[in-house]
Amino acid sequence: MKTMFIKPSSSPAPPPERTAHIRFSELCAGYPGRPVLHQVTAEIPHLATTVLVGPNGSGKSTLLGVLAGVIKPTSGVLLRTGDRPPAFVPQRGAVGDTLPLTVRQTVEMGRWGDRGPWRRLTRRDHATVDAALDRLGIGALASRQLGELSGGQRQRALIAQGLAQESDLLLLDEPTTGLDPEARERIGELLTALVADGVTVVQATHDLQVAHAADACLLLQNGRLTGQGRPEQVLTTSALTQVWQTL
Ligand code: ADP
Repeated sequence: MKTMFIKPSSSPAPPPERTAHIRFSELCAGYPGRPVLHQVTAEIPHLATTVLVGPNGSGKSTLLGVLAGVIKPTSGVLLRTGDRPPAFVPQRGAVGDTLPLTVRQTVEMGRWGDRGPWRRLTRRDHATVDAALDRLGIGALASRQLGELSGGQRQRALIAQGLAQESDLLLLDEPTTGLDPEARERIGELLTALVADGVTVVQATHDLQVAHAADACLLLQNGRLTGQGRPEQVLTTSALTQVWQTL
């Protein structure tokens, strides 16, 4: 497996083609004794929102894990821009909602990658945490326990933790699952707005409304890529019927 880093281009991308933030080809990955992704070749556009869509078990989380660098591909090539590690926001259910943590402590954990869990946060770290809380509109909740919050507020705290990592690549695993429509819409708008802050956003989602609002889409089925491009081109009725009927 070869991972290479390419320098971000200093000049803006010439429209209508977007430059790639990540490019991978013939990527294979999975778990011991369980291959999941098979020969996946695709691009994640720079400074855009990309959705990973597919039925349960199609490999969305595994692909996010590969992009996050926590799952090592067994073969293939992956190229990405940027020199900061990606920020990964796991599924809300994977994070103990009853952990005795305040919202601020949760977001501060986003600084651990730079600072380590035991070193005191610097003034700059605190400013970064404050900015992330403000960006997600949860500054007023900073001293509240995570377990006291609504699902949407907790999700915003987790996204703020991701932002506090100051990465140019934010990866999210089903950030809107289980939220009410208003909270879903708010998270969707926030993620879109982050692109203007210089963040490339990739999210796995089951939510076709969220998927249609993205700039780009990768459609997965049984660990293989069956479509990529603009959501309206990829998520056609016939493609969705074909992917979901052959489960
Ligand atoms: P999705 O996110 O699209 O639901 P996943 O990437 O989570 O799909 O899972 C793809 C396949 O990999 C599934 O068959 C799942 O059971 C399997 N899988 C996921 N995590 C593990 C793991 N830690 N060990 C072994 N198999 C796994």
